[in-house]
Amino acid sequence: MKQVRADLHIHTVLSPCGELDMGAPDIVERALDLGIGILAVTDHNTAKNADAVKKAARGTGLLVIAGLEIQSAEDVHAVTLFRTPEEALDFEAWLWEDFPRILNRPDLFGPQILIDEQNRILGEEPVLLVQGARHGIDAIVREARHRGGICFLSHVDREAFSYTAILGPVPAGYPVDALELTCRATKEAAASFCRSNPGFPLVRNSDAHGLDQMETRCTTVFCLEELDFSELLLAFRGEGGRGILDPWG
Ligand SMILES: [Zn+2]
Ligand SMILES: [Zn+2]
Repeated sequence: MKQVRADLHIHTVLSPCGELDMGAPDIVERALDLGIGILAVTDHNTAKNADAVKKAARGTGLLVIAGLEIQSAEDVHAVTLFRTPEEALDFEAWLWEDFPRILNRPDLFGPQILIDEQNRILGEEPVLLVQGARHGIDAIVREARHRGGICFLSHVDREAFSYTAILGPVPAGYPVDALELTCRATKEAAASFCRSNPGFPLVRNSDAHGLDQMETRCTTVFCLEELDFSELLLAFRGEGGRGILDPWG
């Protein structure tokens, strides 16, 4: 079994709040410098830049997973990860069937830039990505899992855009694979959080919107046989001897 460091929640220049240094080759280089083996690209409500980062990582040994950080109708954030960029885009199409078509104001929210693996600009996403979808969090979690995806609730210790802040403690048996705490959370805060939301694995990611926010301390170590999505899924579910090392353990 290998121990692999993962950051499963980062944003690119496609997120309006993402810094302009979050380009595809730049993210890959930074991840490799930090010893990260698995990186998930999770822009707000879209997976359209994930394949660019995946292609930029070709031949480096870094596994790039395509995902989205969804914002539900209740304004809860959750990270959804898929086996392939195509599956992530299919899920995005489902989410966008009735997504509000409020347009972005780049002067107010920031540009939403679509890039390829060499940071060539392919266009801009016109619809504002940072808004709640029409589906509630329960339906989104159910759909992501039904499609074979991994789903964890984002930054549940934050006072905005988190399940706990908006809906209260996560019910026992809620069908997510893990809960993410911010990398600001102390060991004591993580322990206290576990007491009020028992029964879920914890993960820690950078939620980086700029390159300098990607840090080794904002990662989670997984025990896996191989570097692939199926192994990561087994680790989240604690099956076949795969698992997650408690980031605060
Ligand atoms: Zn978020
Ligand atoms: Zn995020």
